[in-house]
Amino acid sequence: MKQTPLHVIGGGLAGSEAAWQAAEAGVPVVLHEMRPVRGTDAHKTDGLAELVCSNSFRSDDAETNAVGLLHAEMRLSGSLIMRAGDANQVPAGGALAVDRDGFSQAVTRALEDHPLIEITREEVPGLPPAEWDQAIIATGPLTAPGLAEAIRRETGAEALAFFDAIAPIVHFDTIDMDVAWFQSRYDKVGPGGTGKDYINCPMDKDTYLAFVQALLDGEKTAFKEWEGTPYFDGCLPIEVMAERGVETLRHGPMKPMGLTNAHKPDEKPYAVVQLRQDNALGTLYNMVGFQTKLKYGEQVRVFRMIPGLENAEFARLGGLHRNTYINSPALLDGTLQLKSRPGLRFAGQITGCEGYVESAAMGLVAGRFAAAERLGRALTPPPPTTAFGALLNHITGGHILAEDEPGKRSFQPMNVNFGLFPPVEVPKQEGKRLRGKEKSAAKKRALTARALADCRAWLGIAEKEAAE
Ligand SMILES: Cc1cc2nc3c(=O)[nH]c(=O)nc-3n(C[C@H](O)[C@H](O)[C@H](O)COP(=O)(O)OP(=O)(O)OC[C@H]3O[C@@H](n4cnc5c(N)ncnc54)[C@H](O)[C@@H]3O)c2cc1C
Repeated sequence: MKQTPLHVIGGGLAGSEAAWQAAEAGVPVVLHEMRPVRGTDAHKTDGLAELVCSNSFRSDDAETNAVGLLHAEMRLSGSLIMRAGDANQVPAGGALAVDRDGFSQAVTRALEDHPLIEITREEVPGLPPAEWDQAIIATGPLTAPGLAEAIRRETGAEALAFFDAIAPIVHFDTIDMDVAWFQSRYDKVGPGGTGKDYINCPMDKDTYLAFVQALLDGEKTAFKEWEGTPYFDGCLPIEVMAERGVETLRHGPMKPMGLTNAHKPDEKPYAVVQLRQDNALGTLYNMVGFQTKLKYGEQVRVFRMIPGLENAEFARLGGLHRNTYINSPALLDGTLQLKSRPGLRFAGQITGCEGYVESAAMGLVAGRFAAAERLGRALTPPPPTTAFGALLNHITGGHILAEDEPGKRSFQPMNVNFGLFPPVEVPKQEGKRLRGKEKSAAKKRALTARALADCRAWLGIAEKEAAE
């Protein structure tokens, strides 16, 4: 009996990989891509999996880099995106960079040639019709307006962000807690809180004035006109607030009220930078109100002027771009399925991951979930110790929602990074505890070794090898 097809909407990084994975599992797929019938503000060709900006898949180091690990897990899973990337590699040091046209053509050809895949070039104007009982929406950050509006209606008015100024996220273990301290403003406990939910970094008057000046002087990225959408939730970039007057920040996100420096209780801070826990593991903290369009290098330089953040490492820097993504932690189940509409999954950047590789990885996982469901097989999510699982977990459940700022959206797109993984025991070397850089490298190696072993087990690779 001929199987009913799975419909994949959007032939970008995620949709291409989702279609490939499902078809390779034996499920027929109809892939709907609107280009060239309708274009986007960033795509330039009608090729599938077009890279809209850089041609880099970032680090290919699977031992000590989280995106390199994701490459390795995708290769183990028979990823089309990685196969086409590897076949079209151009020299880029430790990074995997690709010839963008050769890459996109290779993906397009492989999908066109697959006997179980049919590609239709059409815009899907709204939510999938009821007769498409299984579908994946992978329409990316530049989802066509008709579908974006339909998703907004299905998921609730405030559930779809159209444009964002995003704030940086810091690795907790790089914050100097001899300078910073835990405290909620006025020790407020709030829902699910302890009264010590924020990390606070104090500034005296001179430090504050120098910091505001650095924000004003710092080099900014140009704001592309095609993104002429208003600021989401009125969340202004920090440097725009600084332009409004030297005291503006001290009365806004940097206000010192209700906070007492635990290390120097008699010294009243002139201003305070607050960081809020960003993931359930407590390994990542976001800088509250610090959305910015400063250039990346400038952000690192300027934000390290903040007492306590002198050695901060950033899991993600702030930025400003149009981005259509749903509030996944509230809307999706652990298999990327819309809770309100079983059978409808989301994949790629629209789920709130960030980057080519991450988008393709979430397409891979969504394609496998949909195929397993169609074939009546068990839906086993990847373990949270794998890069697949860590990213999936962040999207569908690991993120902490900001309950103390009603109406504000705290779930923000995120690259894969080691802060999303459950902690691992760092092995001692010759009976000695490691410190500093050695410890950090050993920790990364332990995380990636555990991830690859668990990924192989999830994919049943050892069993398959034994059976062959
Ligand atoms: C301007 C910009 C620059 C970026 N630069 C980088 C970068 O340099 N490096 C990086 O790693 N990431 C970058 N990203 C982030 C992100 O990784 C990429 O956007 C990535 O392509 C996302 O993959 P995706 O599959 O989710 O979406 P896309 O690759 O955008 O694929 C979505 C597809 O859906 C199609 N589509 C949309 N609506 C419909 C519809 N209604 N019906 C049918 N088809 C539809 C689109 O035409 C598109 O082909 C950038 C994003 C933007 C917006």
